[in-house]
Amino acid sequence: MKRHAPENHENFLKCLSLQSDTISKVIYTQNNSSYSSVLTSSIQNLVFSAPTNQKPLFIITPFHVSEIQAAIKCSKKSGLQIRVRSGGHDLEGLSSISDVPFIIVDLINFSEISIDAEAKTAWVQSGATVGQLNYRIAEKSQNLLAFPVGTCPGVAVGGHFSGGGYGALLRKYGVAADHIVDAHMIDARGRFLNRESMGEDLFWAIRGGGGPSFGIIISWKIELVDVPSTKLLHKNLRTKMQQSYFTNGNTLQIGSMKIYSSHPSYIERILLWSVYSHPCFLVGLTGYFH
Ligand SMILES: Cc1cc2nc3c(=O)[nH]c(=O)nc-3n(C[C@H](O)[C@H](O)[C@H](O)COP(=O)(O)OP(=O)(O)OC[C@H]3O[C@@H](n4cnc5c(N)ncnc54)[C@H](O)[C@@H]3O)c2cc1C
Repeated sequence: MKRHAPENHENFLKCLSLQSDTISKVIYTQNNSSYSSVLTSSIQNLVFSAPTNQKPLFIITPFHVSEIQAAIKCSKKSGLQIRVRSGGHDLEGLSSISDVPFIIVDLINFSEISIDAEAKTAWVQSGATVGQLNYRIAEKSQNLLAFPVGTCPGVAVGGHFSGGGYGALLRKYGVAADHIVDAHMIDARGRFLNRESMGEDLFWAIRGGGGPSFGIIISWKIELVDVPSTKLLHKNLRTKMQQSYFTNGNTLQIGSMKIYSSHPSYIERILLWSVYSHPCFLVGLTGYFH
């Protein structure tokens, strides 16, 4: 586990205050009384909040683009890695843990959704959840429009869209990434980019290639889809959840579904998560193993 010299912490904080007037209000140091609750607020898998994990030196919950730009510039200067977090559902904990000194930029306050039902488009910020998104679309369009996202309402748009994003409308409309027509992001140099200024290659990459490799995506412009006249929902989620779990180390059997991994620790993580965590878990899991 690498350490970060305390003087670098001071430099980081000094750099932030020079870059942004408002950032002191949204930064949580390890001495702050709210630090732990902010850290665990969106970690969905308790494995990643275990005391054995290295914790972020600072958590920043920005309200303004300039605060994100400051965080990027100063962490680069101070040799700190950034973990970007939107909804905290990452299966490997990539938004909350790291082996090297790091900070978290948590986009919980970037959750605006603005819908133009007539044009069938919307702008959605990364911290909004897919549940909030479809709720707002249904509200603004009298249930006529929707967006093809996953079935777990708590997953946030930031990680979901940048990973592709599929759900119940997959066979009719493809994945969420197929319907993204613009995006606003900050790159590693702190530049604010839209589709035109980032270019088509980068725009293609952030729609399925994983967001944090390329920058911090702030918001997405999406094209909404018509709600199909015939809808088929599978009803067996609860039943599956109530079925038994069996594992012999390398294989995990949940009801009739069998998952094999050569790494028993991975099976253990899945088991812990599926038993103790979110009721939507199986939906995500089956997708991952398809
Ligand atoms: C219970 C559960 C159910 C799921 N169901 C589905 C499903 O039905 N369909 C499906 O396709 N997937 C599903 N998933 C997978 C889910 O879409 C991904 O884990 C997704 O990456 C989670 O996004 P998040 O923002 O909530 O998570 P986070 O943990 O915040 O982020 C996930 C990853 O994306 C990065 N990231 C997040 N926000 C940004 C940003 N703004 N800019 C750059 N990088 C960013 C993070 O650094 C991290 O690497 C499910 C996952 C879980 C745990």
